[in-house]
Amino acid sequence: MSSGNYSFKELIREIPKAEIHLHLEGLISVDTIWNLVQENHLEFDGSDSKENLKKRFNVNSLDEFISLFLNVIQSSFRKEQDIVHLITDAQNYLVRNNIVYAEIFFAPSKFVQSGFSFPHMADILEAGSKKIFEESNITVKFLVDVSRTFGPENAEQNLDLVINNPRKSIIGIGLGGAESKGPAADYKAVFERAIKNNLKVVAHAGEDIGPESIWAALKDLNVDRIGHGISAIQDEELMTYLKDNQIPLEICPTSNLFTKKYVQKIEEHPIKEFYNRGLYVTLNSDDPTLFSSDLCEEYELLYENKIFTEDEIIDIMKKTVYAIYADEKVKKAIWKKAEKVIKKYR
Ligand SMILES: [Zn+2]
Repeated sequence: MSSGNYSFKELIREIPKAEIHLHLEGLISVDTIWNLVQENHLEFDGSDSKENLKKRFNVNSLDEFISLFLNVIQSSFRKEQDIVHLITDAQNYLVRNNIVYAEIFFAPSKFVQSGFSFPHMADILEAGSKKIFEESNITVKFLVDVSRTFGPENAEQNLDLVINNPRKSIIGIGLGGAESKGPAADYKAVFERAIKNNLKVVAHAGEDIGPESIWAALKDLNVDRIGHGISAIQDEELMTYLKDNQIPLEICPTSNLFTKKYVQKIEEHPIKEFYNRGLYVTLNSDDPTLFSSDLCEEYELLYENKIFTEDEIIDIMKKTVYAIYADEKVKKAIWKKAEKVIKKYR
């Protein structure tokens, strides 16, 4: 493999990329919260100045993170229209990282519980997807996180909302939230009905608890892809299954390093072992702003720590493109553009 005078980091930025595990709320910027503080006259620890607000975003522990999420981010949204700010944040992030296709999770539970209209929010997502495509030529699709935090009944309601409010940009559902509190089996009926209604289905699993959670997502929910899936490393049979069926794993290293559940440092991350064994590995950023990272930095992290070679990094980019929910034609077109850029550099 050649490694001439070009900067591989620059190439990472230049290659048109896809991202498939990304939360809309995890893209929120300090500017957005600051706007909401002023528009909605909010008061919380740090709301007195933009400087102090910035400090709250500088989270160093899981507790600080949860406090930021619950007390600052989630409580700043007072009306449906506030979500438009998140669309702007998403657009800026995607442009900055040269992401040309993204599937983004949107978690409506909290908003619906506080009285927001789902159809209104769905319209904002749809208009946002259209705007981002028209202005930046980036395709954005949404996966509604029905959530395992609030129980199966809430998830059923979320699914109803998705089915009754079809939008071109909303293509499926995901299962996020507290993995230890919501076993996948409880959501079997929800996912069966989603599949019957031609929705795509994915689930977070093996992020916070063991391989049994990944088995359950595969067997009970029939998901196409696994969010994180890192605890699969503990289960030989599962790794063989994931490999044989080429189930894409949506790996988010910085996020795993932040929660520290299975990984304390990048060298310990199972991504390399998965890749070497032939499992289907994709790379993603999860909640980039909250973890002060972005997709390019995720690739850089793996490259600079010599977890992967340049060719392997490019291969993972390709695998991520080929794991999106789109026609083969779309995937091929994205990768063709990527190859052109790679050729120019190498
Ligand atoms: Zn996630």
